[in-house]
Amino acid sequence: MTKRIGVLTSGGDAQGMNAAVRAIVRTAIDRGAEVFAIYEGYQGLVDDGDYIKKMDWDSVGGILQLGGTVIGSARCDEFRTREGRLKSAKNLVKAGIDGLIVIGGDGSLTGANVFRQEWPSLIAELVGMGEVSAQGAAEYPNFSIVGLVGSIDNDFTGTDMTIGADTALHRITEAVDAITSTAASHQRTFVVKVMGRNCGYLALMGALACGADWVLIPEAPPDVENWGDVMTERLRAGRKAGRRDSIVILAEGARDRHGNYIGSSDVQRVLEEKLNEEVRVTMLGHVQRGGKPSAFDRTLSTLMGYEAVKAILEAKPEDEPVVIGIRNNRMTRLPLMESVRKTQAVAEAVNAGDYERAMSLRSSSFKDAFNTFKTMVRALPHPVEPTKKRFRIAVLNAGAPSPGMNTAGRAAIRLGMDAGHVMLGVRNGFEGLMDDDVEEMTWMSVSGWASRGGSALGTTRRVPKGRDLYAIARVIEDRHIDALLVIGGWNAYEAAFSMLTNRPNFPSFNIPMICLPASINNNLPGSEFSIGADTALNSIVDAVDKIKQSAVATRRCFVVEVMGNYCGYLALMGGMATGAERVYLHEEGVRLRDLQLDVEKLLDGFNSGKRLGLMIRNERANEVYNTEFICSLFEEEGRDVFDVRPAILGHLQQGGDPSPFDRIQATRLARMCLEYLIGQCEKQEFNSSFIGMQKGAIHFHDLRDFDRMIDGEHQRPKEQWWLELKSIASLLALQAPK
Ligand code: ADP
Repeated sequence: MTKRIGVLTSGGDAQGMNAAVRAIVRTAIDRGAEVFAIYEGYQGLVDDGDYIKKMDWDSVGGILQLGGTVIGSARCDEFRTREGRLKSAKNLVKAGIDGLIVIGGDGSLTGANVFRQEWPSLIAELVGMGEVSAQGAAEYPNFSIVGLVGSIDNDFTGTDMTIGADTALHRITEAVDAITSTAASHQRTFVVKVMGRNCGYLALMGALACGADWVLIPEAPPDVENWGDVMTERLRAGRKAGRRDSIVILAEGARDRHGNYIGSSDVQRVLEEKLNEEVRVTMLGHVQRGGKPSAFDRTLSTLMGYEAVKAILEAKPEDEPVVIGIRNNRMTRLPLMESVRKTQAVAEAVNAGDYERAMSLRSSSFKDAFNTFKTMVRALPHPVEPTKKRFRIAVLNAGAPSPGMNTAGRAAIRLGMDAGHVMLGVRNGFEGLMDDDVEEMTWMSVSGWASRGGSALGTTRRVPKGRDLYAIARVIEDRHIDALLVIGGWNAYEAAFSMLTNRPNFPSFNIPMICLPASINNNLPGSEFSIGADTALNSIVDAVDKIKQSAVATRRCFVVEVMGNYCGYLALMGGMATGAERVYLHEEGVRLRDLQLDVEKLLDGFNSGKRLGLMIRNERANEVYNTEFICSLFEEEGRDVFDVRPAILGHLQQGGDPSPFDRIQATRLARMCLEYLIGQCEKQEFNSSFIGMQKGAIHFHDLRDFDRMIDGEHQRPKEQWWLELKSIASLLALQAPK
């Protein structure tokens, strides 16, 4: 029997739900299942009528980049009753649907679970009522459910991210960055209220990403009675130290230690009274749910949708329902009810005032982020203990500029100073280190860096050789540099590696060094993400969305060229996030016969009504079959059926303010790098590493392994985890099967 799958979106909408629906519909069709959209959430299930519609390949075309949910969402009180669920079961049996994928928050998933548990009894009741025949009932002994978490709050236990949370953070950082610039002009104080009833994720990560000055979240109420005094005192001290603005971020569920909600007007009143100045309040409200999904949310939802179909097709009757999550960058299946229970336990702990428990149920990265934030907002570092051994740690940027370099630099410099060490900033990369362009950084010298693109320290691509190394050795000695943090891309790694291999010649290179991956190309070994790649992907996605819109009425194929050097990450992930039908990667090579096939497919498509073609080409996919060649070939072969336009995106991919994801990761990695260096200094060792998230954890790879882990000729790692996503991206962007 063909599996017939229903899909619905329920509860609060979240950006990325459409991408998930698209992936579910197309994957299901590809696997021979039939798929039905149930419009308006559970309400559509209860009401039936026109709400249950069979989907085909093209019915989910053009929705990947849309915010909200095109199949509608609703809150449905009837589904909370057995009567409502009885109607739903009848409608599902009538439509022959035997599996349901629910995209929603913990409420919606709870509902799904209740429904599944009741299924046998609902069917028995329907048989008793004569609504379903005994034979019909026999075909539906069980009902499979798979959940996807659509929730901008990122409040679901067991998954690192929920659908919509990254986009909501985009909206928050855009708004807070904008507010910060006006606040700084007038030296004003702003209170910004963000969503999150029981979960402070958006507030905390938003505050960390924007360099806000205070945050109030539900899980960690201020630990003192006079929190208003403490907050005001801190803000005042910040101003005195030279800050031009004060930004307080408040989660809607924030409360004091007695459980009383703290509203934005409470914060405003306290601040106005004590600071004796006007305090402005901005409520971000539904803006956070609005707008297009970010690159990350499009990819996340696509992969989750794909995984959900696999899970529902594999489900056996006795299996517990699962919810699809992402853990350490990999799809995972979690037991649905247990995860819902754990999620609700956090809310219960918050409501019961057991904040310690609430915090303990949050992930370790959440707790770490909170601790880091508390240091970053200090007006000045903790005073240095007189007996403390102070190390002199130098920070530099190297390689091409990458958004997030400043965020990482700021975090490292402040955290280092707060731990009592002397932080030295090196201007212009290794060239600056040769030229002794080094200065001691102060707490306020990195003010505003959290959100700023480019490289405030300056960066160059120079990899030191020969005499350069002498000059560097002398500066390290003269400046008594104890450790070196290198934030950058390929050239940065090469330079650090060159210092490492030259240790026998230059004893002063016997200091601990660490490389923090920062390159839009995402081509560094030992790290699945490098800082800046997410920002570049968002720039690509924005540009391609606009390019696609420009061609609504014509039959046109765009060939979009993206950066990456020899690494196809931006091309593939950009392709997945924009629905490109073809990506050209150096890793796979480009053959003339592939191009011929592509032309034929394009001709076929345009001849049967298609209006737009989108191909994404990595800048180095093939030296001969370059963008110009491909365009000429397509143009010639496309004859009068379609025309072709190249779009070379160029340096806009390196620019822009860092995305929230890049800011958060930059801060996290910088903290870990600094701890590593301090640890080495304390032990008087000088191991050197490059850091990165890989296979589910943060790893410190021995720098000596650099050349063993890379394909040096093509400047990329030997192992590239994302290549396995190629088949999913290609599948979903196919033309409708005939
Ligand atoms: P979210 O899914 O975003 O958490 P809600 O909590 O409002 O949003 O739930 C959305 C819908 O899911 C509800 O309107 C209701 O139809 C259904 N639902 C929620 N909880 C239950 C439950 N315990 N039993 C049955 N249905 C439920």
